[in-house]
Amino acid sequence: QSQELSQVQIDYHAALQALVEEGTKMVCTGRMHTDRVCRFESLCYSTEAEEFVFFHSNSSIMLPSLGSRRFQPALLDLSSVEDHNTQYFNFVELPVAALKFMPKPVFVPDVALIMNRFNPDNLMHVFHDDLIPIFFTMQQFPDLDLESRLFFMEGWNEGLHFDLYKALTNKQPLLKEQLKTLGRLLCFTKSYVGLSKITTWYQYGFVQPQGPKANILVSGNEIRQFTKFMIEKLNVTLEENAGEEYIVLFTRTINRLILNEAELILALAQEFQMKTITVSLEDHSFVDIIRLIGNASMLVSMHGAQLVMSLFLPRGATVVELFPYAVNPEHYTPYKALATLPGMDLQYIAWQNTEEDNTVTYPDRQWDQGGIAHLDKKEQERIMQSKEVPRHLCCQNPEWLFRIYQDTKVDISSLILMIRQTVKSKPGTRKQKWMNGLYPGKVKDAKCQASVQGTNEAKLSVSWQIPWNLKYLKVRDVKYEVWIQEQGENTYMPYILSHQNHTFSENIKPFATYLVWIRCIFNKNFLGPFAEVLMCST
Ligand code: UDP
Repeated sequence: QSQELSQVQIDYHAALQALVEEGTKMVCTGRMHTDRVCRFESLCYSTEAEEFVFFHSNSSIMLPSLGSRRFQPALLDLSSVEDHNTQYFNFVELPVAALKFMPKPVFVPDVALIMNRFNPDNLMHVFHDDLIPIFFTMQQFPDLDLESRLFFMEGWNEGLHFDLYKALTNKQPLLKEQLKTLGRLLCFTKSYVGLSKITTWYQYGFVQPQGPKANILVSGNEIRQFTKFMIEKLNVTLEENAGEEYIVLFTRTINRLILNEAELILALAQEFQMKTITVSLEDHSFVDIIRLIGNASMLVSMHGAQLVMSLFLPRGATVVELFPYAVNPEHYTPYKALATLPGMDLQYIAWQNTEEDNTVTYPDRQWDQGGIAHLDKKEQERIMQSKEVPRHLCCQNPEWLFRIYQDTKVDISSLILMIRQTVKSKPGTRKQKWMNGLYPGKVKDAKCQASVQGTNEAKLSVSWQIPWNLKYLKVRDVKYEVWIQEQGENTYMPYILSHQNHTFSENIKPFATYLVWIRCIFNKNFLGPFAEVLMCST
């Protein structure tokens, strides 16, 4: 039952006594409101005031103690979207003595994760802003386990994809609206507030035009841990080694259509000698979509939220994203950023319709479906003539909406050519061995010895031992990089070496001091840390 809280029995009297004697306790991680998640004991919520309440007693803890900086602008972000002013969290304060005059508290016994969903009707937002951040916030705090309960405070109804949220824990998530039915004053015995942003890879353009986040911290490995969890929880059975390779065309049926879908399917099937199947959110369940995408060699789709399902593609698969006329693929890259996360091991191809004759516009639709009839004539003209949507902020730019909601007749030969240029043989070569990137440790026992020959010549002999972790690894290619810098100079001489010692003589002067930096490199790309710098005087 959705409103049933008391699967975990609690002693009401003891809980009330703890609240009155201990008050609320809060300890947070993070230094700014944008990277903060807080753990509370006895955080309360007034469903009448729609406010969280912090009760002060002699035993209360509030860390960080921000004073009025707590309102500048907020204690933390309730959603994973950074610093969005509709997503702030705060509480109001009261002394525990005020409880005497308040409604009897109803205690929430489950460990709670309290947060906002950002846009539960859009699949990209569902995965990127909510599901993956919830999953990894739960990984961060061990008492957020499958028995914990999610509380969605953004105020929306269940939304289109509630089943996906339900998969994250064993308890029914509760919506803000439902809290009223539980009581007037709810007290969360143990709760976490806010979401980790560590896995998000895209910013939607609220303060600067949209694009990948500046400092992406997630890799394909974590994404696959999440998808593995979802596949198990949703009871999806991927046909392991079913053998036959195939292409999935993910279509939209309401807008942003591919007008020559049948022709496209035939062309793909013929070109790659693979079965090509069509899926859509309208005609397929998530279980089916995940099952089909989970073993596909290639996923082809118009730009749009459904492309976030490439999360579920197997390594080595290819993502082909189609863009309507006048929409520059490089300006809208949430799915490119996903496909190219380190270790995602997907190939990504963007194709854009460059033929105005192949686009169908809808100037008379509602503004939010790209209509422009509400704009003045001059502006309508300008938009119709424009060959590219200029960069813009989220989310209501009429020219952007007009262009992104066009239908497209895909020019088959230009698309196939483009895919061929990237995908040389078969699109989903799964036989390839995937190297997961391990980095070397520091080189050990680095030493240098100087010798002077006459007044102009000197030599530096440098030696070191392999990094400690190398003796447990099979690494194809091990190299060492040595930098030699004369003390006081800004420049250095770099060398790449294969052995663990070398004698340097060019540009080494007598009676000078050199700093020697050494690091190990695995397989060309995996640069280890420098060992402690050596000082060598000739
Ligand atoms: N959607 C869909 N079929 C359609 C149009 C939209 O399944 O024909 C889905 C889409 O995948 C997304 C949601 O409806 O999850 C909202 O679509 P919208 O066009 O607003 O957003 P976008 O896809 O551009 O992010």
